[in-house]
Amino acid sequence: MQFNGTDIIKDVTERFLRYAKINTQSEDGVERVPSTKCQHDLAELLYSELKGFGIKEVEYDKEHCYIYAKIPSNRSHKSDGGISPVAFIAHMDTSPESSGAGVKPIVHKNYDGKVIKYPKNSKLSLSPQESPQLAEEKGHDIITSDGTTLLGADDKAGVAEIMTAAKILASKNCDIDHGDVYIVFTPDEEVGNGTAHFNMKKCRAKFGYTLDGEEAGELNCETFNARAAHIEFHGVNTHPGTAFGRMKNTVYALAEFINKIPRSMRPETTKNRTGFFHPLRIEADVEHSKVKMIIRDFDEKKMDEKCDKLKSIVKAVEKNHGGIKIELKITDQYQNMGVIIKKHPKLMKLTEEAVELAGLKPFYQAIRGGTDGARLTFMGLPTMNLFAGMFNPHSKNEWASTRIMEYAVLTILNISTLA
Ligand SMILES: [Zn+2]
Repeated sequence: MQFNGTDIIKDVTERFLRYAKINTQSEDGVERVPSTKCQHDLAELLYSELKGFGIKEVEYDKEHCYIYAKIPSNRSHKSDGGISPVAFIAHMDTSPESSGAGVKPIVHKNYDGKVIKYPKNSKLSLSPQESPQLAEEKGHDIITSDGTTLLGADDKAGVAEIMTAAKILASKNCDIDHGDVYIVFTPDEEVGNGTAHFNMKKCRAKFGYTLDGEEAGELNCETFNARAAHIEFHGVNTHPGTAFGRMKNTVYALAEFINKIPRSMRPETTKNRTGFFHPLRIEADVEHSKVKMIIRDFDEKKMDEKCDKLKSIVKAVEKNHGGIKIELKITDQYQNMGVIIKKHPKLMKLTEEAVELAGLKPFYQAIRGGTDGARLTFMGLPTMNLFAGMFNPHSKNEWASTRIMEYAVLTILNISTLA
């Protein structure tokens, strides 16, 4: 599809291929933002390309590696009761879980629907059995890595889609009626710091969208409620030869505690809207043991019930292991953004309409995790997540659909004009 002389699928694919080759891998456990200097390489390029589109208000926060841009409204009339200004947001970094250096994207033209083999990694393959959405891409162009790195479609697909839409909206002869549109590119989303230095003063939108999702038509306006639990066991150590009646070994208490987590409430036994307990790490010795655990649920009330359950497990274990003291500390991590987004039915309806106008059927999927959008929502910018056409993120099997990328650009344009 063409808009103001821009062939959307060609432009978004070409951009994606260029951005994917730039290493922007973030690093875990680094306090500084950005966690890696290489993220500036993409930021600098995006800054100069946005300027090149003729956008006057483009800012590059060189300290923390954020890009902010504003495409002013081209409306002669004031939109009455619309939802503009809106913001489109994507993250520039790629996951630390798989190498992001030396990415060599491969375009599979007219994908034949068969198993994909990688030229540089014979152990790896990608099939419609493992990745069912692949079957829908038969006859279309898809993009993979060469099998030695991730692809980085998470979230360079989102970056490319926003850039193509920005180019169209900012062009002099733009015949799309739109309100003020803000664009923000963020660093370090994959290491949980994407919103750490997000400057709301530079993004004065009423609503935001992250382009960081998967399937065509998918909308996400719900995330988990998330809490962390730290459980510490305090016992008594003695020489094992003379331990009779004196030793209080916390290793046993810890083992019992872990065993009392119901099998039906684990990540590996739950899906859709069911929450879970997930012990991430343990440290155990006779005198002192620790468990780090996360608790997730979409529903606030069920989350409270889970915390109560944990308290009762702690009590029971303490009772069974006289002399061992157990401390339980529960802290909030993030909240389900759905409680706020759902207060804006206009936003949801307009977004559904924008997806339909692009030629897709919108559907909602609750995210079994958190998003930067969730944090932004609680910072005052209600932000839902839109599909971007990436699959198998964070892995060497990551792939992107150029067809869905085009739909995402159309959806951005539709939102800009409907808002
Ligand atoms: Zn992402």
